[in-house]
Amino acid sequence: MLTSPVLVLNRYFVPITITSVKRAFVMLYCGVAKAVHGNYETFDFDSWSQISALKDKDFIMTVSKVIKIPRVIVTLRYDGMLRKEAKFNRINIFRRDGGRCQYCGKKFSRSELTIDHLIPRSLNGKSVWENVVCCCIDCNRGKGGRSPEQARMKVINKPKKPVWDPFSNIYIRAVRYKEWEPFLSFVDVSYWNVELEE
Ligand SMILES: [Zn+2]
Repeated sequence: MLTSPVLVLNRYFVPITITSVKRAFVMLYCGVAKAVHGNYETFDFDSWSQISALKDKDFIMTVSKVIKIPRVIVTLRYDGMLRKEAKFNRINIFRRDGGRCQYCGKKFSRSELTIDHLIPRSLNGKSVWENVVCCCIDCNRGKGGRSPEQARMKVINKPKKPVWDPFSNIYIRAVRYKEWEPFLSFVDVSYWNVELEE
């Protein structure tokens, strides 16, 4: 329940991302976000925790009370619109490659995969989407400081820059909440109008 998704809106009520219930509660508790309920009504942690959750299936139990889970929160600090481009970082490389070593094709956990530069950095290979893939430790060792051609290894999927879409995540697709519906129609608009950023 604590890992189930919560929609995060910026202060213009435009969806910016999805977070977990756990993180949403932390944001609420720290006062950086408010819970959104019904008609754009917002609640801070105290007022939200007074909303009875007993008739609702969607709740968490704390030592002293039952708190309804907010399925939509609005951040008070962050004005960011949806990102047009995926951030170049390990987690996104891992996501792009589906958690698979791009040489042997086996699936690994995040900690078991390394990032391989097709053209090694020692041969002036750049750290860009098109030159990095997930690679298991064995394949990495086999490849050494060589290019795939030199090592006679084939890359399964030619690495490309991914298009970032927060709603394409399988985990998100699997679960949607009726509380999200009033806000999701904004997604296309905000996505195509990133220049609205302040
Ligand atoms: Zn491998």
